[in-house]
Amino acid sequence: MQDKHLDLIIEGGWLIDGLGGPRQRADVGVAGERIAAIGDLSGRAATRRLNARGKIVAPGFIDSHGHDDLMFVERPGLEWKTSQGITSVVVGNCGVSGAPAPLPGNTAAALALLGETPLFADMHAYFDTLRTQQPMINVAALVGHANLRLATLADPAATPTPEEQAAMERMLADALDAGAVGFSTGLAYQPGGAAQQDELDGLARVAATRGALHTSHIRNEGDDVEAAVDEVLSVGRNTGCATVLSHHKCMMPRNWGKSRATLANIDRARADGVDVAMDIYPYPGSSTILIPERADSIDEIRITWSVPHPECSGESLGDIAARWGCDKTEAAQRLCPAGAIYFAMDEAEVQRIFQHDCCMVGSDGLPNDAHPHPRLWGSFTRVLGRYVREAELLTLEAAIAKMTSLPARVFGLSGRGQLSVGAWADIVVFDADTVRDQATWESPTLPSVGVEHVLVNGQAVFPATKGMTRPGRILRRETPSA
Ligand SMILES: [Zn+2]
Repeated sequence: MQDKHLDLIIEGGWLIDGLGGPRQRADVGVAGERIAAIGDLSGRAATRRLNARGKIVAPGFIDSHGHDDLMFVERPGLEWKTSQGITSVVVGNCGVSGAPAPLPGNTAAALALLGETPLFADMHAYFDTLRTQQPMINVAALVGHANLRLATLADPAATPTPEEQAAMERMLADALDAGAVGFSTGLAYQPGGAAQQDELDGLARVAATRGALHTSHIRNEGDDVEAAVDEVLSVGRNTGCATVLSHHKCMMPRNWGKSRATLANIDRARADGVDVAMDIYPYPGSSTILIPERADSIDEIRITWSVPHPECSGESLGDIAARWGCDKTEAAQRLCPAGAIYFAMDEAEVQRIFQHDCCMVGSDGLPNDAHPHPRLWGSFTRVLGRYVREAELLTLEAAIAKMTSLPARVFGLSGRGQLSVGAWADIVVFDADTVRDQATWESPTLPSVGVEHVLVNGQAVFPATKGMTRPGRILRRETPSA
């Protein structure tokens, strides 16, 4: 049999397979959208050769927690992803997604995180538009529980009637049939926070029967974090639905250290057979909409956007309040609708959570923010530069597995997250000695350094070139064939 023609050989690099195995010297051959050969390919012909001598060649990173739902339409270049080596993203997190659109008159503050594009009627329409637009990177989508409530409940702040619950479950089933990989809850926000256990169990049952999962921004990440983790674990226990705890953290100094208990509870659930994973972003500050009730309890809050006061983006709430001659709560009220960064986490605890077996990396990046949290541009390269090279928290191979094969397994993205013959050619080439984030709290949109080449389905997406095609695909949840 003749060797298959290769479109590209990435030669001379150190291959890290994404499955946790030690790096090895190997060339990688790409034919079309797939990896066709791995090994010494010096004798093979190829249309193009890429010199990766001294560099790491790894599977493209999977961002397990994104909010780029509408950015595929609004800013389809997605440079904040490709420049840090991300080749796939899971969108629709924290209860909010690009579809379905609310009933007339229903709205929720958290939807403002997504962008300006009107929400789509349903996930079929969302995916149709993505297909027409051609995504730059691969995308797997969750449907937001807030969307389901807003699209079905006459009063989204209420408990659903049995008819409304049934309508939500039908809508979820329809979204999963359209290709959503699961549903997300944002129990810390309204209207998601109005949901009780029965409602969540009912939805999770629908997801479980279709092999889909439930991700959750839990009800409380501060004083009541332990109960909030247990609530979501119990949904998994009751229904058999696979569960992901989003951006797991313990906020406010008085709660630092509680992750010892939450991680123990997660371990117990896993030992009992509940399929649980989680994600973190590698920073001690969090970011979401501005919540005036938090203004007094967190010392440092920085504004990321504001509708009535766009000039305040990037400033600290304390400075704004001082200038306006009012207290921080009143300043926050005057800034809303707005977004903010909250400095209330312990870096050592973030690192401890990250090292847990089932913890992935999720940027939680907010590309629609005027002055975004730096996690948008720097999460993955920050892990490689700071957590691996500088702090030596874990090996490069183990860190890459957390960014590739682990999320591929959790979200059922078959043929992704590993470099092996037959796998999709999602590939990142980077310099392990120099790779790092540059985005900071002050300059949050600086691209990373050290990432040299990024391929999605065999096509180059970084560095960007003129006339570059957008090679991403919509990923459905599949269980890998044995
Ligand atoms: Zn969230």
